[in-house]
Amino acid sequence: MLRRQIAAVVLILVFAAIPVSAGSSSAKTLKALIVDGQNNHNWQETTPVLKKLLEQTGLYKVDVATSPAKKEPMEDFKPAFARYDVVICNYTGDEWPAKTRKAFERYMKNGGGLVVFHAADNAFPQWPAYNEMIAIGGWGGRNEKSGPMVRWRDGKVVYDTSDGKGGQHPPQHEFQVITRDKQHPITAGLPEKWMHASDELYSALRGPAKNMTVLATAYCDPDQKNGTGEHEPVLFTIDYGKGRVFHTVLGHAGAHMECVGFIVTLQRRTEWAATGRVTQKHVPADFPKPDRVSRRPGHKEPKKSK
Ligand code: ZN
Repeated sequence: MLRRQIAAVVLILVFAAIPVSAGSSSAKTLKALIVDGQNNHNWQETTPVLKKLLEQTGLYKVDVATSPAKKEPMEDFKPAFARYDVVICNYTGDEWPAKTRKAFERYMKNGGGLVVFHAADNAFPQWPAYNEMIAIGGWGGRNEKSGPMVRWRDGKVVYDTSDGKGGQHPPQHEFQVITRDKQHPITAGLPEKWMHASDELYSALRGPAKNMTVLATAYCDPDQKNGTGEHEPVLFTIDYGKGRVFHTVLGHAGAHMECVGFIVTLQRRTEWAATGRVTQKHVPADFPKPDRVSRRPGHKEPKKSK
């Protein structure tokens, strides 16, 4: 028994002594936590894809906190948020226990990072702090009482307070993402317009919409079922206390996450949420064009050109 303990200690020391590798020699490894376990989407498929895409950069070490299943006791679900530089929310489901919600609010107010991924903006319609973090969300009974819709009209953000439910989307289709903030570290250097692989274009999301910066929008064609005829925010940031939030409505399932535009903005935005900076300034040659989708089948990295 004693020998086994000594062996374990030696093993820990050996691993502790191995230097961590990172994509950039000056960057420290960022600790990322994906939270999942319940979702009206296939989180069992998307979490490994998120993990793989982040780890491809060499910048992140990614852990996963999986909640109990729906309706199972939740009181012991207490992810150690404070140990991480960034939390990626791939969760929508039962309420977290009060202590976990408070710990998450504290983590964010004190300067934590959060990436809100697709259906995570369906989560927690009754949790005021979470709705401030995500700025706008959909479904779960959201309506005009949840806050305005946010649209891009005539070159600026417009808050639309008209009545109606929050959250809808046309059938999956390819749509063009238009960068509205070219200075932000996440979008700097990317083409102004790029075609996103067939996905759900979340529209008419509603919420407090405070401290929100729209980085990119997509036009929701009124000729489609559930089309709003508005430029809907698809990539945006939110300041919450000292914390940084990045919210993307893109990424319904693994196939949609093969889009190179999705991949590059995921890799950049997670770093920004963690540190407030983006060191990944390179725009890969296979980035989508204004009128043409570009995918990485199986989320494989392209061969690096020299
Ligand atoms: Zn979806």
